[in-house]
Amino acid sequence: MAFKPANNIQDLQYFGEFGGVNPSISDSSTYTFLSAKTMFDTFEGNADGCYLYSRHSSPSNLYLGEALAAMEGTETATVTASGMGAITPVIMQLCGAGDHVVSSRTIYGGTYAFLKNFAPRFNIETSFIDITKLDVVEAAITKNTKILYCESVSNPLLEVADIRGLAKLAKKHNLKLVVDNTFSPLSISPAKLGADIVIHSLTKFINGSSDTVAGVICGTQEFVDDLRNVNDGACMLLGSTMDSLRSASVLKNLRTLHIRMQQHSYNATYLAEKFEADGLKTVYPGLKSHPSHELFKSMMYDKYGFGGMLTIDVGSIEKANELMEMMQTKNLGYLAVSLGFYKTLFSAPGSSTSSEIPDDEREAMGLSDGLIRFSIGLDADIERTYTMMRKCMETLNILETKTSEMV
Ligand code: PLP
Repeated sequence: MAFKPANNIQDLQYFGEFGGVNPSISDSSTYTFLSAKTMFDTFEGNADGCYLYSRHSSPSNLYLGEALAAMEGTETATVTASGMGAITPVIMQLCGAGDHVVSSRTIYGGTYAFLKNFAPRFNIETSFIDITKLDVVEAAITKNTKILYCESVSNPLLEVADIRGLAKLAKKHNLKLVVDNTFSPLSISPAKLGADIVIHSLTKFINGSSDTVAGVICGTQEFVDDLRNVNDGACMLLGSTMDSLRSASVLKNLRTLHIRMQQHSYNATYLAEKFEADGLKTVYPGLKSHPSHELFKSMMYDKYGFGGMLTIDVGSIEKANELMEMMQTKNLGYLAVSLGFYKTLFSAPGSSTSSEIPDDEREAMGLSDGLIRFSIGLDADIERTYTMMRKCMETLNILETKTSEMV
């Protein structure tokens, strides 16, 4: 049967030990063994189905990992305590001193800061490039390059990576293509397009309730075993382990992801089209004006749409702040970082989530001060939301008052 990410989640069946419809939560940090020999074998990685210690793995974490691997179409997955707790071990596992990363220059500020400021302490260098230009990407590859790194839809500029094209380059130069798919779960399946490793911050759409930070690394069994290796595995040794209680709650939220993504996408498309028609500089992959609209279409599962993220540029940070504060006062959303909540969230990335990126580099990549990033919520009546947002923009002279309403 053809790969369908949401079906793959739904088709998994887990029962609790007493026949509960949800799996029991493994509320233990350590596990007993009937024989010392089995304990030794487990340490050596030779005792399938045995648990050792919950930093290594736990039944609850394995359930969630299995569901996310099914969603992404990878052999397996391992869950972590945050998105950064997924990204950093992947980089540290694949790169050692002297190695090099080619990364998109528009990525989440924390990932950028890690590659730019932290990884060099271990003599791992990164070239930040425009990921939408495959010739530029290829020109940046050196004999020391180990990773091609990008976000399928980038934070915050919503640039779209040509995953098929990047995968070809990765194969040609024997690199690992690592894709952060946080902005486009279900819509895009990077592994199916050739990515080697797929990462999510589960904190966002996948968990969807802004009550936890969490992450996942999806990849081959071999790579995930390497990450968990007791001797030299970056997940095992750096220790960004997810708690079992949390993984149980993320698993429950994952089951409604397909419905939520459809509503996020529907609402975001509605607002993006209206904002653009009103003359606002609007970026949304679902708009024909988006430079990678056709590329996104060629990679997506139509049903889940173009996602819940859009940006508008209102010209200055002062206007952006005024608008966000007013929208919050009107209960149209929250002035908050992060994304994927039932409520719309907005922030100005230049002074928040991308503030790690120096001014000149932000300018070069087109990250202007007046940019507002929206994570559009699950509003039941998006027409009403639009009318109220438009009123805020008119009050602040961001948009002219509509003639029809003035009469
Ligand atoms: N990747 C992307 C695209 C993000 O937007 C974020 C956080 O905003 C992260 C990774 C980091 O995730 P976390 O905050 O769960 O560590």
